[in-house]
Amino acid sequence: MPLLVMKFGGTSVGDLARIRNAAEKVKREVERGFDVIVVVSAMSGKTNELVGWVEQTSPLFDAREYDAVVSSGENVTAGLMALMLQEMDVPARSWQGWQVPLKTTSAHSAARIEDIPRANIDQKFAEGMKVAVVAGFQGISPEGRITTLGRGGSDTTAVAFAAAFDAVRCDIYTDVDGVYTTDPRIEGKARKLDRIAFEEMLELASLGAKVLQTRSVELAMRYKVKLRVLSSFEETDENSGTLVCDEEDIVEQNVVSGVAYSRDEAKMTLISVADRPGIAAAIFGPLAKAGVNVDMIVQNISEEGRTDMTFSCPVNQVPRAEDAMEKARASGEINFHGLVADTDVAKVSVVGIGMRSHAGVAARMFESLAAEGINIKVIATSEIKISVLIDRKYMELAVQALHDAFGLDKAA
Ligand code: ADP
Ligand code: ASP
Ligand code: MG
Repeated sequence: MPLLVMKFGGTSVGDLARIRNAAEKVKREVERGFDVIVVVSAMSGKTNELVGWVEQTSPLFDAREYDAVVSSGENVTAGLMALMLQEMDVPARSWQGWQVPLKTTSAHSAARIEDIPRANIDQKFAEGMKVAVVAGFQGISPEGRITTLGRGGSDTTAVAFAAAFDAVRCDIYTDVDGVYTTDPRIEGKARKLDRIAFEEMLELASLGAKVLQTRSVELAMRYKVKLRVLSSFEETDENSGTLVCDEEDIVEQNVVSGVAYSRDEAKMTLISVADRPGIAAAIFGPLAKAGVNVDMIVQNISEEGRTDMTFSCPVNQVPRAEDAMEKARASGEINFHGLVADTDVAKVSVVGIGMRSHAGVAARMFESLAAEGINIKVIATSEIKISVLIDRKYMELAVQALHDAFGLDKAA
């Protein structure tokens, strides 16, 4: 029997009526002849509420208990989805991650999937079950503890199941009808893409477009999963939504395909560190050990053997970064005159495979930001993306200006 994976995000299972709507979509695929693995998120807002409860109870929480708490939202929706399907006469049952078992590393709150043994679920399909409902976002560590896969992780659960069960396709149902040239909530002129290349989707996701979790795109690319994003709230068919596919399968290609943003960034500068071999290692080693995800790095020119070192990281990691730097100073590993944190910055990026063969993308980006009077604080580039850090208050304006400047509202 051909098998389909269908994933429903938080808004798509936000209340019982929405769970029924999602279950109807599942039933339709069963009637078309598919066995289905349904992956569900927690109801919208639930995971945030659970995270809040953990942080209020224990600011420096034990990550294992954090996972025990925040994974629970998915348990509720998995059970409800199975019940809803049974009410519609579709043979279904639910699985929590540990029951599958979805085996992960022990990196609590950011675990990686290691293995999904098929035997349990295959046996139930063989016995006549038509739908396996799986709680997304969660798994079990080698120590037998509950783990979670990082925020947005149900996308990754879905793609991993699609790979493990050789699914015909992995359909990600969400509250927008596909992947757009930028977040349609920020730019009304954003255009839905029929197709997007894996590499571009990977960059957009890792630069902040939360429509897919980065890791899910990586897995789909590696295991050649046919990955599609489409709407829970509209009638959909074979051709709906956006297909994430190989670059060769895209006919029209703009130089820039999309604009992404990440709102909660911070820029930190260590003032006057010694400019000597090993200084970068002495700074970024302790930051990595403290769990700070450093993104961009700039080292200024040296004057009289001293220099300034600037880096960016998520704004909620600033206290951890400050602590790590003060400790490194106290132990004599580094020496600096001051540490300045700018916590009001955002990152805006343009992404496109076409950049590989087109010069002038950076210049056009900088000109269009300049025309809006937006000052650039840090720049980073790679083969298919250019990112800038700017004041957070200009983030929306920057996204819109770049969307215009690269003509993203029009197809290539
Ligand atoms: P779900 O709960 O279904 O997983 P998410 O909120 O995680 O949904 O992701 C969907 C949201 O991603 C959309 O509502 C949209 O605001 C946002 N988004 C950001 N960038 C894009 C983009 N380029 N295309 C589509 N949606 C985007
Ligand atoms: N519920 C989890 C989150 O909000 C996982 C997901 O929805 O993908 O991050
Ligand atoms: Mg999501």
